[in-house]
Amino acid sequence: MAANKSILILPGDGIGPEVMGQVRRVIDWFDNRREVTFNVTEDLVGGAAYDAHGTPLSDNTLAAAMAADAVLFGSVGGPKYDDAPRNLRPEMGLLRLRKELDLFANLRPALTFDALLDASSLKPEVIKGLDLMIVRESTSGVYFGEPRGIETLPDGHRRGVDTQVYTDTEISRVAEVAFDLARVRRGKVTSAEKANVMETGVLWRDVVTKLHAAKHTDIKLEHMYADNCAMQLVRAPTQFDVILADNLFGDILSDCAAMLTGSLGMLPSATLGAPDESGRRRALYEPVHGSAPDIAGKGLANPLACLLSFAMLLRYSFDLHEDAALIEEAVRNVLKSGVRTTDIMGPGAARVSTNVMGDAILRELDKQAA
Ligand code: NAD
Repeated sequence: MAANKSILILPGDGIGPEVMGQVRRVIDWFDNRREVTFNVTEDLVGGAAYDAHGTPLSDNTLAAAMAADAVLFGSVGGPKYDDAPRNLRPEMGLLRLRKELDLFANLRPALTFDALLDASSLKPEVIKGLDLMIVRESTSGVYFGEPRGIETLPDGHRRGVDTQVYTDTEISRVAEVAFDLARVRRGKVTSAEKANVMETGVLWRDVVTKLHAAKHTDIKLEHMYADNCAMQLVRAPTQFDVILADNLFGDILSDCAAMLTGSLGMLPSATLGAPDESGRRRALYEPVHGSAPDIAGKGLANPLACLLSFAMLLRYSFDLHEDAALIEEAVRNVLKSGVRTTDIMGPGAARVSTNVMGDAILRELDKQAA
C-alpha cells in the first residue's frame, strides 16, 4: 500500500462545503478501493473562519496548510461579509494562503467534454478534443510592480501608473513548471508575451529560450505574441498543449480559454509553489467558481469543478495519473449518460441535485474499478 498522503481540506463558504462533501465521498472511495490512502484533515477558511475565530485564516490553519502535501480549497465569500473590515474579508484568507505558501504558478486547464460541446460559444468542431493548460505567473508583473498609483500633475491633469516588472528568476521558475507539465502531457509549450513592444517581453523570451536549451530540449517550445495567442485560442484552440504567460496576459488568456468550455461549474484550477529539497511542491487546488450565494444550501451546485480540482491534485501533487484519469473518465461518462446539474442542463438530460451527481460519479467509479 502506498504511503499516506496528507491533504488539508478547506471547504469555505456558500456552496464550498456542499461541493466538497461530494469530493469527500470520492476520497473515501479511493481509500477503500485503490492502493493509495489519504490522511485528510479539514479546517475553516473565509467567512466560516471569521465567524469562528475573527479572522479568515487562523495561524493554526496556515501552519496546517504549510505542513500538508496539498490543500484542497472550496470557495469563500458571501453577502453576509460585505461589511467586514477589508483586511478580514473572506477573500483575504485565500490571498494570504497563496502569499504565505509562495504559490506563483497558476494552472488553469481548459478541457471539453463531448457531452457539453453545445455549451460553448464556439462551433463544436472547433473545440472538440480541446485539452490545454494555461500556466500563469501569479505573484509578480504589472499587478504588483512599483511604482504604481494615481497622481495629480502640476497642470491639474491626473496620471495613472502601473509598472510591469519581472526578474529572470521569476520567469524561469514559472517556465520550469510549464516544461514539467508539458512532459506529462503532450510535450509542447507555447510561451506568450509581447517581445515586439515590451522590455519584459524581451527578457521573458530570452529566459524561456535559454532554460529550454539548457534543460528541456525534449519539449517543443514555440513563442507567440500574446495578442496572436488570444486570436489563436478562439480560432484553433486545439493547437495548444501548455500555454505559458505572465500575470496580466495569463489572466486574460485563461479566462478566454475557460469560456471555450462553457460552464463555471466545470472548471478546476491549481496554484503551485517551488519544489523543496525533497522535490515536494506546495500546492493549492480549487474550483474557479466562487461561493455562489444565490444557490447555496439548495442542492443545486455542480460539484464537478471541485472534483476535477481533486483529480488535478492527484495528478500534479501525487503523480497518481491513473487515479486522476479514473475521475476524469467518470465525469465524462456521467455527462454522456445525460445526468446534469442545473447549470449544465441540456435538452433531454436529467436534472439532478449536487448529491445525486455525487451518487452518479461513485456508481461510475465502481463500474470502472469492477
Ligand atoms: P460565483 O462563481 O460564486 O457565481 C457566479 C454564478 O455562477 C452564480 O450564478 C452561481 O450560482 C453560478 N455558479 C458558480 N459555481 C457554480 C456551481 N458549482 N454550480 C452551479 N452554478 C454555479 O461568482 P460571484 O457570484 O461573482 O461571487 C459570489 C461570491 O464568491 C462573492 O463573495 C465573491 O467574492 C466570491 N468568490 C470567491 C472565489 C473563491 O473563493 N476563489 C472566486 C470568485 C468569487
